[in-house]
Amino acid sequence: MSPLDRRTWLKGLAAVALVRGRPAEAAAEDPPAPVPRGETCPLALEDFEPRSMLHVPETKVLTPRFPVIDVHSHLGQTARSEKGVFLGEEVKFLTTAREALALMDRKGVRAMVILTGGHGAGLERSLQTFDQAAPGRFFTCVEPAYERFLDPKYPQIQADAIQRASRAGAKGLKIRKALGLYLREGITEGPLVEVDDRRFDPMWEACASNGLPVFIHVSDPEAFFLPIDRFNERWDELGHHPDWSFHGRDFPSHQQLMEARDRLFTRHPKTVFVGLHVGHNAENLAFVSESLERFPNLLVELGARIGELGRQPRTARRFFERHQDRILFGTDAFPPPEGEKYPQQVFKDELYEIYYRFLETEDEYFDYAPAPKPPQGRWRIYGIGLPDGILKKVYRDNAARLLGLSS
Ligand SMILES: [Zn+2]
Repeated sequence: MSPLDRRTWLKGLAAVALVRGRPAEAAAEDPPAPVPRGETCPLALEDFEPRSMLHVPETKVLTPRFPVIDVHSHLGQTARSEKGVFLGEEVKFLTTAREALALMDRKGVRAMVILTGGHGAGLERSLQTFDQAAPGRFFTCVEPAYERFLDPKYPQIQADAIQRASRAGAKGLKIRKALGLYLREGITEGPLVEVDDRRFDPMWEACASNGLPVFIHVSDPEAFFLPIDRFNERWDELGHHPDWSFHGRDFPSHQQLMEARDRLFTRHPKTVFVGLHVGHNAENLAFVSESLERFPNLLVELGARIGELGRQPRTARRFFERHQDRILFGTDAFPPPEGEKYPQQVFKDELYEIYYRFLETEDEYFDYAPAPKPPQGRWRIYGIGLPDGILKKVYRDNAARLLGLSS
């Protein structure tokens, strides 16, 4: 385009922008200026929604080939949080057992693990609302009582709380990424508390002696630790959730967090840990493989990371073949309307269909989330077409063994 043409054309655009600013009736008389044929138009990255022109098979997988246990969901959570730390016993529920069961029945989900069950009275309410309302369909986990962290007896208080939770019916302990990234010496102020802080040792040991697995989330995608600039592959996502950035300030690096995690796993060999989000490092399956080999007490889960697995389908497929006994199915399901903010984990039929398509088919280049734009990064995914033997383990058998369910 010559500079002159370009100027006239930009003027046209400005006119369009003005029209958009006017009341609807006035704007209706004036259709927007058409983009000249063969010309490109300036476009904000935010507005780019390319539609794939690939002619390749599209398999609709409405139900899974085998029954599923989803080990990663948030059907409720602690009501109050301050600076990333959830505090207090009050819980709020994001759906009802009835509503959740209807979706589960449609999508072949036999059971769900509700990770964020709270603690104390809140945990009891969670257990009543889900586990006791539909026995065998929901398994709720307890969380630490961080509001008591400043009590000098906290290590023992927390260990005792684990035992009480286990007796009350909790099926595991959930640790959010708050440990390592938000919890501080003064709970919400002061220096950060490390993942392997000794004050939690009795808690990890209590999990081992009560047979409760620990569902642990450490760190976040590597890109969350980098500047939010043009090189950041999660630019859109961090733009929508700037509070997810751990770049700068006093945050440890991703590597430091992994090292603290490794010290924790080493020190508590009898405690079973489920590394959420593909062992906290879905972008680096060689690292996760090594962790699985190094720590026999570690399993991993898939929640909100098929976007990562599906963009490296050959590496992912080998990962599933090699570690087929230690991978659990999980989605990180978060019910709408709140879940709509995170389409890669919104508790909806479409979300399950995408997971099943990824695991069961060899379809190419499809969306990893039910959203007009890929929410985590600008790419699409490829199915890994797992064989029945592996599928059955990942969908259900590995989780059933972990939770002590009969086969
Ligand atoms: Zn989660």
